[in-house]
Amino acid sequence: MSLGTCLVTGAASGIGAACARLLAERGAERLLLVDRDAGGLAALELAVDPECFAGDVSDPALWERVEAAAPGIDRAVINAGIATAGTVAETTLEDWRRTMSVNLDGAFLSLRTSMRKANKGASIVVTASASGFKAQAGAAAYATSKAGLSQLAKVAALEGASRGIRVNAIAPGGVDTPIWDTAAFFRDLVASKGGDREAVLAEMAQGNTPLGRFASADEIAAQILFLLSDEAATITGTVLVSDGGYTL
Ligand code: NAD
Repeated sequence: MSLGTCLVTGAASGIGAACARLLAERGAERLLLVDRDAGGLAALELAVDPECFAGDVSDPALWERVEAAAPGIDRAVINAGIATAGTVAETTLEDWRRTMSVNLDGAFLSLRTSMRKANKGASIVVTASASGFKAQAGAAAYATSKAGLSQLAKVAALEGASRGIRVNAIAPGGVDTPIWDTAAFFRDLVASKGGDREAVLAEMAQGNTPLGRFASADEIAAQILFLLSDEAATITGTVLVSDGGYTL
């Protein structure tokens, strides 16, 4: 089955790269990939030659380039994001704005292009997070940005419905991707375990995830693909929580 023209942001790594691989395997005709990591995009080995847009998702000029290249979009994964840590009291305004700039401004611009260019029957998935639902100390900016994304997806779902456009969000709990390595607290934990990253992830999952493990990027990509597919034809405006029970 053809999936038509597919857009993925944050495609150079983790969940986005897994989505790009899966969409290429399952019938994407055109694959538009966006990431600020040009080298990571270039290193992807995919079943379809992608059209790569290197840049910052919060830069409107990037979206002008994507809109000029894409007459229509059939599937979109609005996924680029950064993780920042800090309590409300500790978070600097700079960190707050940096988080909102990527996670909210960037997702808004990505979604705006996707809605403008969406062909009839298009399907869009936004990567939110379980931390947008369950408050956890030390995630002030990140959790707030992700809570906003779930609501943004619902508004877009309502606006797109009359054109047959579906918009959903996925809210993963812990997923084993390089995003964790960007957090100082995580690097400190790994250093305290003699560099054993897997042991730290396993310990974290056993501490806060009833199923006792984090997801893989491939597992989350498969769930995103389900939401993008015609099998989910009656599902719109939902947030699929995929967190091993973290929010229970
Ligand atoms: P990742 O770090 O492996 O991938 C994120 C990608 O986004 C990277 O390739 C990065 O270069 C890109 N990116 C970041 N800022 C960008 C910007 N301003 N412009 C363009 N590209 C940018 O992380 P991941 O875990 O695959 O994260 C994907 C999404 O999943 C994020 O939105 C993240 O918040 C969300 N998420 C991750 C987890 C987890 O535990 N890994 C849990 C819940 C939600």
